[in-house]
Amino acid sequence: MKIESALADIVGATHVFDLTVRPGSTEEVARCLALLSHEKMPVVTVGGRTGLVDATRAEDGQVTLSTERLTGLHPVDVERRQVLCGAGAKLEAVQDWAGRKGLRFGVDLGARGSCTIGGNVATNAGGSRVLRYGMMRQNIAGLEVVLADGTVLSDLRGLPKNNAGYDLKQIFVGSEGTLGVVTQALLQLAPSPGASASALLAFASFDAAMKAADTLRSRYAQVLSAVEIMWRSYYARTARALLKDAPLPVSDEHPIYLLVQIEAGEETNDLLLAALEALDGVADGAVAQTAAQEAALWAIRDASEIIEHSHPRVLSFDVSLRPGDFAQYLVKVEVALARLPNPSTLYSFGHLCDGNVHFMIGYEPSGGQGDEAIEHCVYGPLADVQPSSISAEHGIGREKMHHLWRSRDAAEIDVMNRLRRALDPAGILNPHIRFEAL
Ligand SMILES: Cc1cc2nc3c(=O)[nH]c(=O)nc-3n(C[C@H](O)[C@H](O)[C@H](O)COP(=O)(O)OP(=O)(O)OC[C@H]3O[C@@H](n4cnc5c(N)ncnc54)[C@H](O)[C@@H]3O)c2cc1C
Repeated sequence: MKIESALADIVGATHVFDLTVRPGSTEEVARCLALLSHEKMPVVTVGGRTGLVDATRAEDGQVTLSTERLTGLHPVDVERRQVLCGAGAKLEAVQDWAGRKGLRFGVDLGARGSCTIGGNVATNAGGSRVLRYGMMRQNIAGLEVVLADGTVLSDLRGLPKNNAGYDLKQIFVGSEGTLGVVTQALLQLAPSPGASASALLAFASFDAAMKAADTLRSRYAQVLSAVEIMWRSYYARTARALLKDAPLPVSDEHPIYLLVQIEAGEETNDLLLAALEALDGVADGAVAQTAAQEAALWAIRDASEIIEHSHPRVLSFDVSLRPGDFAQYLVKVEVALARLPNPSTLYSFGHLCDGNVHFMIGYEPSGGQGDEAIEHCVYGPLADVQPSSISAEHGIGREKMHHLWRSRDAAEIDVMNRLRRALDPAGILNPHIRFEAL
């Protein structure tokens, strides 16, 4: 109770309830963290809570710090193509804000309406347009972060070049709230491409889809915004659930589907058609003729939540490997899953050109078979594929922290912990996320 009233003195009584505090400014974040550090009180920072690795669930005695009031959007600097926004601003609100000035914020993902810029920074979010714009890291021109002791560390200069010492903002990108609380981000924008066009293509094999993706990348790199891959089980389940009895845009009998998007102003439609003509091995396809049809194709790709609700238990994975290693690796996962006593269903999709596959594996836990057996089927074969990573874009959280050693060596994990101790000696920031060597 004492800590709640001390926090209420800082942010106002209406912004503290059930050990959740909602600061309204950087200064209030700083005062809250200084207090919590002093009291050695653990704190969990939450944005939109769309993270997929169980990182924002507070345990008994942990204070939740919500960024929901830090939503300020400053005027867009059209000349420098930058915008300063509060950490709690929703990704979609920032995209719309930049769009009003004819600019685009390049990071995009299915959770755009709920996730926050602070969460995107803290997870180094990827998404469907990494191919064109890079991950969150490549789109950050400056950051303001509050350290555990309340120190405000600010680099909002937005200079494209600044080698005067370390680029400190970088260590907070992808740090999952373990090094500081992001309060503001200066985002780099790009010219808006104006128009978009998408096509859904079916292929008889992974190799045929890979060849098509390579052709698109080599000939249309300047205008290609996305090449998303779906394996049959994912496409069939999401498309049928969304469209019910209506016909599917492409039959669900093919092994592999690519969703291709081109954005190139007035030439967009012509370029998409030219790009499609350049491809070999397309077994079937549908080109969106209207914005609504394009949105419907993307809704199929973004409907992973349908899978979440399709089985008693669903585990999500997010591995990174070279695109050329996908096919062989997936066969090994399927073989390993088939050997388990309990049947399971594997749904795979992802960002083909980034070498990033998302798996969702649905099963019914029973007879002593739990999550570990499934994890073993995914991570065991991954060890044979190098280079690879257990987390391409979702981070570690609680869910993957016991597997960190599979993708980082002992020296890397040691330096992560040293950095953490240096910036947060009281160990209050997201202490439930632990970086453990084997
Ligand atoms: C339907 C759906 C689709 C998704 N698609 C993608 C995708 O394509 N690519 C991708 O990368 N992710 C994807 N995600 C995952 C998720 O949306 C991202 O990880 C997102 O960046 C999290 O933002 P958030 O605001 O919800 O963060 P939260 O879930 O609230 O928090 C995530 C982590 O960041 C920390 N954090 C949050 N805010 C701050 C802050 N201000 N300062 C410091 N730490 C903070 C939290 O403590 C936690 O560790 C998807 C999720 C869903 C539900």
